[in-house]
Amino acid sequence: MIDVLVIGGGNAALCAALMAREAGASVLLLEAAPLAWRGGNSMHVRNLRCMHDTPQDVLLEAYPEEEFWQDLLKVTGGNSNEQLARYVIRASSTCRPWMRKHGVRFQPSLSGTLHLSRTNAFFMGGGKALVNAYFRSAQELGVQVRYEAPVSRLEIEDGRFVAAWVGEERIAARACVLAAGGFESNREWMRQAWGQNERGEWPADNFLVRGTRFNQGVLLKDMMRHGADIIGDATQMHCVAIDARAPLYDGGIVTRVDCVSLGVMLNRDARRFYDEGEDFWPKRYAIWGRLVAQQAGQIGYCIIDSKAVGRFMPPVFPGEKADSLPALARQLGLPEAAFMETLNAFNAACRPGSFDHTVLDDCVTEGVRPPKTHWARPIDTPPFYGYALRPGITFTYLGLKTNHEAAVHFDGRPSDNLFVAGEMMAGNVLGKGYTAGVGMSIGTAFGRLAGTRAAAAALQEAQHAAA
Ligand SMILES: Cc1cc2nc3c(=O)[nH]c(=O)nc-3n(C[C@H](O)[C@H](O)[C@H](O)COP(=O)(O)OP(=O)(O)OC[C@H]3O[C@@H](n4cnc5c(N)ncnc54)[C@H](O)[C@@H]3O)c2cc1C
Repeated sequence: MIDVLVIGGGNAALCAALMAREAGASVLLLEAAPLAWRGGNSMHVRNLRCMHDTPQDVLLEAYPEEEFWQDLLKVTGGNSNEQLARYVIRASSTCRPWMRKHGVRFQPSLSGTLHLSRTNAFFMGGGKALVNAYFRSAQELGVQVRYEAPVSRLEIEDGRFVAAWVGEERIAARACVLAAGGFESNREWMRQAWGQNERGEWPADNFLVRGTRFNQGVLLKDMMRHGADIIGDATQMHCVAIDARAPLYDGGIVTRVDCVSLGVMLNRDARRFYDEGEDFWPKRYAIWGRLVAQQAGQIGYCIIDSKAVGRFMPPVFPGEKADSLPALARQLGLPEAAFMETLNAFNAACRPGSFDHTVLDDCVTEGVRPPKTHWARPIDTPPFYGYALRPGITFTYLGLKTNHEAAVHFDGRPSDNLFVAGEMMAGNVLGKGYTAGVGMSIGTAFGRLAGTRAAAAALQEAQHAAA
């Protein structure tokens, strides 16, 4: 019998498989996706948030534990298990040498709208290179990997893992790590979770999924059926506003449009609905998906002028371009009179200041609602550009409750041989909100922990069986 069964093929699963194998366990990893699409959402990532007390290779200055924790506290509004969060934070300071050993390479961050060179270590070649390196290392170490192996259900007895089913095949193991992501790719579940709004719309029908199509939440649902303890709320998720032309799945990072803080954001009635300059973009980019989800038709339009060009990462698809604002309104299909009223009112409300996108500057509006509290400059210099944006879901937060040993819980009791990592438990640390790079910090810390615990549980059981 296999010692450790790992379910999933993303960062958390691979970290668990590698650690379990290094601890001497035999390991089988089951990935739902075919080889070409392996790696889940992890193939799209760029960086991981790391605590450090002094400058380290690609990381500038220092990012101490307390600051990392305060950043998490701010975005989650306190909806975070401090013990688990601090475990993740501390683990983020020591994981990089281990990652390098398994072939992951880092590079300094690019400059742009995300001011992350102090806090986040970027992967050379992005997430695709990271998962490829981990799969290569896992196979060299003797981890067995099976693709196109979606697990449909688990056998659990008295809170212990017994076996997993792939179609008609039963796979028993001494211990198991669940690392099969969230349920963001399951459109029917998203539809139920978001329900119908006061306009009679089903908002989730207009959501796009930034990552893999394979995170259907099948195991999360199965664990609910088994009575596992659940954490989080099905409508909490990381959701950014992305180019409305992005594909339904796997558009990845290039569909993000990073110019909101440099312009104005309108709904389909051509009205502004939120302060575009509330805070630095890395601290605010993840609120815009939900804000757009709340608008009629779940669509928003970001409008900039040529002064903004060159100050943000260029999106992969060019925006609509026009030499006048009325022409831009027509091209975007927005009501022209309302569009001009909003833009004229905004432009007239911009107070003179010293524009500086690298600080919370003094360019503000006066007399319009909502205000724009930084980087407010009249949109008056042609050509003008507009991007239609839709909610783009990164991952959901509903997950399995866990503890400092990464154990799955049943009625408050930790399982001895069933563990969880990554998006399937991220809600323990991230009840809501997000800070860039923390998804990988959580997945790496808990993936490694879950793999270690699963190997220990399996090897202990093997010893008992032999005695
Ligand atoms: C576009 C994009 C960019 C991102 N950028 C970053 C970033 O720069 N930094 C960061 O920290 N986070 C980022 N994230 C979030 C990050 O991807 C996740 O936090 C992290 O990768 C989660 O890892 P995971 O292993 O839990 O899940 P995933 O990587 O999604 O892996 C889940 C795996 O489970 C498999 N699976 C699902 N169901 C089954 C089943 N029933 N049986 C078998 N296998 C199954 C899937 O095929 C997949 O391989 C980004 C996400 C996206 C979509």
